[in-house]
Amino acid sequence: MKDAQLVLKSHEKHQTIVKTSTSQIGAKELFIAAGPCAVESREQLDVTATALKKAPVQALRGCIFKPRTSPYSFQGLAEGGVAVLQQIKQAHNIPVITEVMSSEQIALVRDTTDILQIGSRNMQNFELLKAVGACHQPVILKRGLAATIEEFVLAAEYIAAHGNPNIILCERGIRSFDTFTRNVLDLGAVVALKQLTHLPVIVDPSHAAGKRELIADLSRAAVACGADGLLIECHPNPEQSVSDARQALSLDAMVELVHALRPIARAVGRRIVEHDMASTGNVLSIERQLLHAEAHAVRGR
Ligand code: PEP
Ligand code: MN
Repeated sequence: MKDAQLVLKSHEKHQTIVKTSTSQIGAKELFIAAGPCAVESREQLDVTATALKKAPVQALRGCIFKPRTSPYSFQGLAEGGVAVLQQIKQAHNIPVITEVMSSEQIALVRDTTDILQIGSRNMQNFELLKAVGACHQPVILKRGLAATIEEFVLAAEYIAAHGNPNIILCERGIRSFDTFTRNVLDLGAVVALKQLTHLPVIVDPSHAAGKRELIADLSRAAVACGADGLLIECHPNPEQSVSDARQALSLDAMVELVHALRPIARAVGRRIVEHDMASTGNVLSIERQLLHAEAHAVRGR
């Protein structure tokens, strides 16, 4: 592995554990992150967070800046989505993950977001890698659509070399001649990256498969071969999803999937941790509580 230094394993037990307020990614516990491809509204993310906390998942994904193949497709709520992420994170006490494509976007979300995501199309955007290297929060680095394992490792090395050791590698499928699945999930890369690097490695079966009916089995395979976690797309109304509808799981299917992963997790010495994220319920119930508290204060005056 030419030139990689900081991210390579120095001995068999060498393992980075990336911490969020609720998780230790790379440790025994599985890190399951789920949520919509794109944040569409506060209500959509609120309903999603309510369902997923019970699953439980350890973080909520939701992108407000969307890299879309066509310039005419929905590009995300952009700046308008920052407040939505902030509200849902606070209301549900759940870490949030969102994608950034530029330094300006990092500046907009860095106070709100627990984990920054670098998407597949930006895996070799070296200026962006340097910019997230200058941040302190964890970064999910997704494998490029056609990146070799060496290029992937060197992209992670950029982030580490610029000062941020909190890197989570994400295998999300690579392009092949076969279009039946959107991409080909490279579980061989997951095993290789676990052996080569000390970084946590997670799997995104959603963008790999592109079809919701393939996701549960691929998730089980990923956990069985040693992945430290999963990143999965789900939506309250999958068919209505504004992006990646075909691969979105329903919220019920997502909860069911977390349950179905438990025996596999146990078999490979992992566990799925229940949160200690005392939730105050959904955003609306928080607003009701605030109103109630205000009314109480007024009466008490
Ligand atoms: C996403 O996570 O929604 C996404 C765009 O993924 P990728 O960069 O892997 O295509
Ligand atoms: Mn997507």
